Formats: sequence, structure tokens, C-alpha cells
Amino acid sequence: SGHDLLTTQRRKHSPPLCLQTSHRANCHDYERVSSNARSVNLSKYLNLENVSSAGFNYHLISVFGSQSTGKSTLLNHLFGTQFGVMSEAQRRQTTKGIWMSNNKRTQAEGGYAMADNILVMDVEGTDGRERGEDQDFERKSALFALATSEILIVNMWEHQVGLFQGANMGLLKTVFEVNLQLFLKDRKSVPRSLLYFVIRDHLGQTPLSNLRDTILQDLARIWIGLSKPPGLEDSKIDDYFDFAFVALPHKVLQPEKFVQEVHKLGQRFREGRKDPKRTALHLDDNDGVLLTEYHRRIPADGFPMYASGIWEQIVDNKDLDLPTQQELLAQFRCDEIAREALIMFDEHIKPLENRQADGIKAGKLVVLSELSSALGPARASVLKNFHLEASRYHKAVYQRKLDELRDVVDGRLKTLFLGQLNASHKLGVQAFSDNVSEAVRIAQKKGANYDFAQIVVAEKKIAISTYEKEASSLLVEGAPWSEYKQEISLYRQELDEVSSRLRRDEMRRLATRIERHVKNRLAERIGLEFNNLGSGRAGRGAPVEGEKPTSEKDLWDRVWKGFCETVGHASVRFTDRASGFDASPEEVEVGLWRLRRKSWTALRAKLEDEVMEGNILLKLRENFEDKFRYDDEGVPRIWRPTDDIEGIYTSARHSTLTLIPLLSRFRLAVSSEPPPLEEWIGRPPTGVTAADEDDLTPIGGVDDDSQTTIEEEMTILSDSKAADLATRFKKAADGVYVEAKRSAIGGVAQ
Ligand code: GDP
Ligand code: MG
Repeated sequence: SGHDLLTTQRRKHSPPLCLQTSHRANCHDYERVSSNARSVNLSKYLNLENVSSAGFNYHLISVFGSQSTGKSTLLNHLFGTQFGVMSEAQRRQTTKGIWMSNNKRTQAEGGYAMADNILVMDVEGTDGRERGEDQDFERKSALFALATSEILIVNMWEHQVGLFQGANMGLLKTVFEVNLQLFLKDRKSVPRSLLYFVIRDHLGQTPLSNLRDTILQDLARIWIGLSKPPGLEDSKIDDYFDFAFVALPHKVLQPEKFVQEVHKLGQRFREGRKDPKRTALHLDDNDGVLLTEYHRRIPADGFPMYASGIWEQIVDNKDLDLPTQQELLAQFRCDEIAREALIMFDEHIKPLENRQADGIKAGKLVVLSELSSALGPARASVLKNFHLEASRYHKAVYQRKLDELRDVVDGRLKTLFLGQLNASHKLGVQAFSDNVSEAVRIAQKKGANYDFAQIVVAEKKIAISTYEKEASSLLVEGAPWSEYKQEISLYRQELDEVSSRLRRDEMRRLATRIERHVKNRLAERIGLEFNNLGSGRAGRGAPVEGEKPTSEKDLWDRVWKGFCETVGHASVRFTDRASGFDASPEEVEVGLWRLRRKSWTALRAKLEDEVMEGNILLKLRENFEDKFRYDDEGVPRIWRPTDDIEGIYTSARHSTLTLIPLLSRFRLAVSSEPPPLEEWIGRPPTGVTAADEDDLTPIGGVDDDSQTTIEEEMTILSDSKAADLATRFKKAADGVYVEAKRSAIGGVAQ
């Protein structure tokens, strides 16, 4: 483009030394900043010069003036730069462009105390009017310089002063115009600029003060003649500019004096404060001229971006809107700074995130022990790093980006935090459950009547304090996720659930032990009862000492009584032990109810076992033989032919046969009714759960939904089985009879 005025020619003009040497200063001193593509180069240049990290501690100075008025020469003398200077031999116009160089003067070099990081822009080819060239570039470079520079050096020959129609005044008119245009949009933060008039080849006949007055008068006339944009009609030149003046002797005629005066001038490029009572117009000759109010407040690291954005707008002839440019810059830079800050954050957090994520994928619990020491510092440093650089930019944008960054960081930290709490939760619950079981096991081993409730209370205390310790070690002050109220309440809740589950299990185990005990006792008692049946002595002969005389008729009464006693003792034991579990009265009720039902089922099973075909037939046969082979005194009979074998046989057989209907139905002799089973078991207590009922066998006549009646529940032998049993028994009895008969005859024959 016509304005992409990269001064390639300038490079050619530069002494060969510049291109061929590897000397840093030569290769990087000149950077054109007026092209967008060059902002990268400018960035590199500022990095190289260590200016990027300077924040606001840098300055921008531009020089303006007609062609070949010794501008570059002046800058090179003032700042030790190497801007191209037209050689004395070939006086021809240099190509237009804006060049930048960092101040090369250092104090060590014997220079003077100048401000840090003075960036100097040599604006070339600003004066095209003399040869009738278009003034477009002049306008654009003036706009660019005003948008960026604190001080504009206006360079002119002494003989140009007072030539109102001269090129310089045209240039100044342009400067004023673009200034009004520029700050029309930005009235709040209008930065002032210093116009530093440097009068060259001062002969000394006209005092500087006279020259100054002439210039100021001219400026006032220009200002009045300006067509000011609406709203700024009444604005004054002093609203925008301060002025300073210096005169330099002829460089060729008074070389030593020239150098001396330039050095004096150089010393003024240091920070200064303006006496509020005086204007810059009267700045003392020795004051620093870099006033804070001149600074454009663009952080150094954002300057290349800002400069290229501005230049783009200028080239495209768009209205320059500095506040918008500053906001755009802030957004761009804040994003960049946030990205950089996040890279460091990532280095610390990513490995932890990965391990946690891998753990979740593998379904494993991962405890990140280093998390507690990582979270806080990672958060603090990412925010601090961001603040350090980004806070220099547009405040609202900075704040918004800070909030965004904080959200991102906190989102990730929160995930880690919750993951860790989750691990603490799960491990804590597991440890709690294990520890309670282990404590119970140890207590049981000691045989003591251990208090389950107390074990639970102690273990819960440990579990909660462990969790609290772990969770609180992860807290980070100021982080919105940094609390675990809800999490610990869920944790407590689960510990409660686990402990009540453990208690239920414990109760179950107790119940199972007691049920087994009942089963054994019943097996013994019922077995004994049926064995007595076999001996046929029930109701006859001497009873076992201490026991009431028994009779076959009372069989079921004894069975029921024994059953009730056994279960009664077991119930007392159960109630006793359950109190150590802190079981509620309801839970105890349910346990007892289950015990009664299970005991009944056990009894019923035992009875069925006793009346199994082989067993009962044997018992009946023994019962019969006992009655048949022994007399009423219990003495064995020796059969003789004269004996009424048939009579004895018939009565013994009859007596035994009466047992079959007796055994068939569980019926109490006292009432000739079934035992009050339903009443004895009782209604299911409130608080019975489905789980409580799951393993229970339905009991006929007791359970509403059982398919059988109490009558069926009490039927020990079905009618057909009883009939079958009678037939088999009779056959067996017949055999015994025949044998007796034979032995009687045989006994005689002998
Ligand atoms: P620029 O175009 O304004 O940057 O001017 P240059 O720095 O390239 O100088 C133009 C010419 O003026 C060169 O030949 C210099 O040697 C000469 N020159 C530089 N400074 C002075 C000065 O103070 N007085 C005089 N008379 N000539 C100077
Ligand atoms: Mg020059």
C-alpha cells in the first residue's frame, strides 16, 4: 500500500556496517513501527532492549520538522541513537517512515541522568508541502505521534521562526487539527503533550525569549484560525499542550558548543513535576520535562500491539478512538497474560488433574497427598502473575478478565477439591466400617458383653475428625469453593447409615446365634420326647427322677411347654444383648417376633423329621414291642403256649395304634385344641421391614397371606400318611406276633 512505507531504501542508505555487522545495536536500533506486520518485530525489539517488562516506566518522544533540518542528527547526539543522517555529499530526500530506537545513552558511559527506557521516534518525510507532495503522510504520522508520544520535539532553523506561512506552521496546524480530532472522543482522559521547540543554528543575536514569543504568537494565530469540531469551539491551546523552548548553536560553526548544549538538553529528559502554580510554558530551564500527565498509560508490553492497532486505523482513515483502542488492547493483552499465567498454573495442577482423572477412569480412589500444599499457592500465584501485568491495562477490562480467569482457576481447583473430598469420604466410610467390625471382633474375643453403641460412637468421632483434618487442609482463603459443610453433612449421614447397617448386621448375627441355640435345644427335647415314645414307657413305670410322670396323651402339652420355655429363655437373652447395640424397642420387638416365628418353624421341621416314615415306624414298633413283650411291671414275658398271646397282642397293638391319630395332630390334651400359636407369635410389630420378612417361612393360620390354615399347620401326619403308617405298622406287629407264637410253641417243644 502507499502507506506501507517500509524504508527499504533507508536500509540501503544505511552504512554497510549496519547490515553486515552482527552488532546488536546496528541490527535492531531501527524498527519501523508503522506497519501492523511489524508489531512482532517491535515486540522483539522491546524484549531485546529489556523495555517490555518496564510497565509504565518508559517514555515516548517523537521529532517533527521540515526535511533536512538536522532532526536525526539531533536525536543521535541526544540519545546516542543511529538514525540515518543525510550525508553532506548527496543532499536528497530520504524515504518517508517512522523509525524507533531506544535511548542508548547510559550513565555509565558518562552520560547524564536520563529517565529509564526513552523510546525515540524519528518521523521522516513529514514535510512534503515544499515540493507539492501530498500532505497525507504528514497528517498520519502526526496523528500517530500524538496518540503515542509524551513529547513532540519540533525542530526548526532559527531563520524559520516567524515565517508564519512557512512549512513549520503548516505542520503545526496539522498537529493541532489531528489533536482535536483525536481527543474529541476521549475527553475524560485527554493526556497533555509537550511541544518542545528546538531552534537550530541559533546565532544568538535574537534572545531565545524573543523567539519563543514569536512562536507562541504564531501558535495562537493558528489556533484561532482552526475550524474546531462541534463541542470544542471554545477549547484553548493550553488545554492540550505545554511548551518548552531551547536554542542550539550552529553544529558546524560551533561544534564544541553545539555538543555542550545538546548534552544540557539531554539532561532534561528525566521525570519532572510541574509546579501547579506555573504552567509548563515557564518550566525552569533545568527541570525534568517528562511529566506523568504526558504519559499515555499503555504498558510497555502492550505498546507494539497498541501502536499497530492505531496505525491500522490511521491507514484505513478511520476515526481514531483511543478509549476503544485501549479497551481492545486490554482485552487482547489480558487474554495473553491470562494464558501465560495459566501455563504455569497448568504445570502445577495438570499432573494432579491427570492422576485424579485416571483414577476415576480406572474406578480407583486416588488420594493426592500433595494437594493441600498445591491448591493455595497455585491459585495465589496464577492470580498474582496476572495482576502484576494485567492490572496496568484498562481497569474494567482487567477486572472482567480477572473474574474470568478466577472462574477458570476456581472451577478446576474445585473439581480437584471435590475429588479429594470424595476420596476422603469413601476411604473414611470404609475405614469406619472396618474399624467398627474389628473392634467388635476384639471385644467378642474377650468374651465381654461389649457395648456396640459405644464402639460406634468412638469410631465415628475418629472418622469425622480425620475427615475434617483432611478437608480443612485443602481450604484456600478467598476461594469460593473453599468450604465443605454440605460434604461433611453427607459424610455424617453415610456414617450413620453404615453404623445402623452394622448394628442391624450385628443384631442379625445375634439372632442367628440364638436361633441356632433354640434349634439345638428343641432337637434335644423333642428327640427325647419321641424316644420316650419308642420305649413305650410313657405313662408307665417309674418316671425319671424329678420329672412329672408322663403319659402319651400329654405328649403335645409337653412339647408345647418345652418349646415355650426354650424360646422364652432365648428371648430374655436376646433382649439382654440387644440393649448393648443401642437397639430401639421397636428393633428388639421385631427381633423377638422373628425369633418366635423361626423357632416355631424349627420346631415344625424337627417334628416332621421325627415322623418321617422310617423313624416313626421304628418308634411305633418299639412302642408296640415294649407293650407286648413286657408286662405291666416292666418284666419281659416268656411266652408259654397257655398264654393269651393273641389277647395281649391285640391290646398292645390297639394301644400303639391310638398313637397314630395322636401324633398326626398337634393338639393340647388340656383343651383338645391346637396350641395358641397365633396369639403366641403375635401380630407383626410396627417397624417390621420387608427385609425382616424376607427369610421367614409362612405360618399357616398366622400369616394373613399364607395359603394354609392353622389346622393344616398343626397337621403333623396327613390322613393318607397316617393310614399308610397304620398298615405298615400292623404288618410289622403281625410279624412280632407270629414270632412270639412260634417261640411259645418252640419253648414247649424244647
Ligand atoms: P533530517 O532530515 O532532519 O533528519 O536531517 P539530518 O539529520 O539528516 O541532517 C541533514 C543535514 O543537515 C546533514 O547534512 C547534516 O550534517 C546537517 N546538519 C545536522 N545538524 C546540523 C546543524 O545543527 N546545523 C547545520 N547547519 N547543519 C546540520
Ligand atoms: Mg532524518
